[in-house]
Amino acid sequence: MGHAIALDARLHAYLISSEPPEHEELRKLREYTATMPNARFQIAPEQGHFLGFLVRLIGARRVLEIGTFTGYSALAMALALPANGRIVTCDVNEEWVNIGCSYWARAQAAKKIEVRIGPALDTLATLTNDRAEAFDLAFIDAKKDEYDEYYEGALKLVRPGGLIVLDNMLQGGHVADPADNGPRTIPIRALNEKISRDARVDRVVLPVGDGMTLARRR
Ligand code: CA
Repeated sequence: MGHAIALDARLHAYLISSEPPEHEELRKLREYTATMPNARFQIAPEQGHFLGFLVRLIGARRVLEIGTFTGYSALAMALALPANGRIVTCDVNEEWVNIGCSYWARAQAAKKIEVRIGPALDTLATLTNDRAEAFDLAFIDAKKDEYDEYYEGALKLVRPGGLIVLDNMLQGGHVADPADNGPRTIPIRALNEKISRDARVDRVVLPVGDGMTLARRR
């Protein structure tokens, strides 16, 4: 039976070395964020590349992001959007978002990024109530115990054929350990199971970063 190869440090470095050049402001923002206490909230550079690739692949013009943190993923996707493209990104922590703003501006991507500060579930409800124009892609990377609700909210806001991308779906491998019933493992394991048999989407789980699920709305 086939088996995926494990990425050891050398092979990971090899993969990274073959990535296209990272935008200067992305690199600076990533390096700054890496010095912060919550640095692990930031996606890996190869994930930023992947998100930008997906934006281009599906010709996305409207993107929704749940969980801005310091704005690396928002910038990675904004740079891949066309000039008239827009990303709506939400977070509860304005201080984190403010860090990203100056990098977005220097990368001349700020006009593509609309920030909503507040609980993500409130922002999702507001977008739904306002009958916001449908999104082509939604990226979910915030509170793990609310992932199921983010997913349901995103399903209402993404167009048929649009993509929902969820980060941290392998939880460092903990989802595969039946003895692990931690507060992040339980909801993510349950959501993996739910999406795998969800007739509303086609889906694939990729072992990129900490595991990324791509769910395409049917
Ligand atoms: Ca994440």
